[in-house]
Order: sequence, then C-alpha cells, then structure tokens
Amino acid sequence: MRLVLLGAPGVGKGTQAKRMEQEYRVPQISTGDILRSAVKAGTSLGKEATSYMDRGELVPDETMLGLIRSRLDRPDCRDGFILDGYPRTVRQAAGLEALLAEMDLRLDAVLSLEADKALLVARLLARRVCRTCGADYNLISHPSELQGVCDLCGGEVVQRTDDNEETIHNRLEVYERQTAPLKDFYAGRGLLRAVDAQGGMEEVFTRVRLALGG
Ligand code: AMP
Repeated sequence: MRLVLLGAPGVGKGTQAKRMEQEYRVPQISTGDILRSAVKAGTSLGKEATSYMDRGELVPDETMLGLIRSRLDRPDCRDGFILDGYPRTVRQAAGLEALLAEMDLRLDAVLSLEADKALLVARLLARRVCRTCGADYNLISHPSELQGVCDLCGGEVVQRTDDNEETIHNRLEVYERQTAPLKDFYAGRGLLRAVDAQGGMEEVFTRVRLALGG
C-alpha cells in the first residue's frame, strides 16, 4: 500500500498515519518528524530547516526531494509507505511521481483529511508531544495522565515551538496557498479521496478504512 495523506496542520494526519501504520504494517513517514530530529541532532539539514520551521514556512523543495528520495530507498519501504506531510507543493508532488516512476512504483491513493479551520486552530493550540519518544497528546481530547509527563516513557510532554498562535496562522495560510492545490493535482490522476476528519480518532479511522475500501 502506497499512500499520501494530505491535510492542513492540526487535522490529525500524524495520528491517523500512526494508526494506519499498525493496521496496514507499512511505515509512516513524517517529513516533519524527520526534520525535527535533524534539528535536535544539529545536522546540516537541521540547521537549514530550523528557520523555515520556526516561521511556519516550507523548507525548499530541492532539500525535501533529496530527503524523501533517500527515505524511500530504505528497505522498510519495499512493501509500501504512508507519507505524512509530503508532498506539500505541486513541485514536490511532481518530484515524487518521477521518483516512483524511476522505481517502477505508483501511488495507490491520496487521502485528503478535511476539517473546519476553527477546529484546526483549537487542536493545534491544545497539542502536546513527548520530547523523548514523540507520543502525541492533546490537553482536551487526550491529556497525559500526569500533567507534563509522558504515559509511555516518562519523558517531558511539551508544546511544539511552531504550535504558537502566530506560526499556526502562517502554517494554515501556507497550506491553503501551496498545498491545497495538490487536491486538484491528485484528483486529475483519479487518486484523491476526501475523508471527514472531524470527530474522535477511531471514528475518523473508520472513515479512513472505508475510503481505502474497507
Ligand atoms: P509538520 O510536522 O508536518 O507540521 O511539519 C512541520 C514543519 O516542517 C512545517 O511547517 C515545514 O516547515 C516543515 N516541513 C515538513 N514537511 C515538509 C515538506 N514536505 N516540505 C517543506 N517543508 C516541510
């Protein structure tokens, strides 16, 4: 199964992608997570990416194409993958298409997760994440049992630096301007399936499963 998950920041792409990874046994590839690890490790990729991420802008396409090429080359992608956060521009989508063609592969589907903007902003402001293991939390819908402490590893649960009000608004604008046009790109290829992402995690996952044919 080779899938792309599209959707605005806060729509729950990461949560659904992790759930799908368990169900379909193919890796979830989050370019945002890869970039955050690079920032934390202080690599040259991290140094390049950090100023874009802090402003809620996109990291340049050339850099992202190189990143996705080396990730898809790894053996765990042989039987499929779920792309979470890539592509984010039409150029990235065209690059992915060319890369897959080189590998003699094609996407099976592109799921577009949809939710109202007010819900996206509320979810992003309440979002928390474990600094150590990356587990996702939400102050409203899924708080950690002990405030600020990860249920899974005991690590510190914090807010992402780009989940502040100003950056959130910029990221949503960037999504509308640069990423939403991908819906037409993939609809034109007969791959797009829209999924209502409003509701609880399992409720949305049921819709995801239906969109993928049960
Ligand atoms: P995310 O965790 O998917 O919300 O991504 C966090 C940030 O990483 C974004 O706001 C961008 O700055 C950067 N980023 C992640 N994926 C991409 C991509 N495919 N293209 C450009 N920038 C990206």
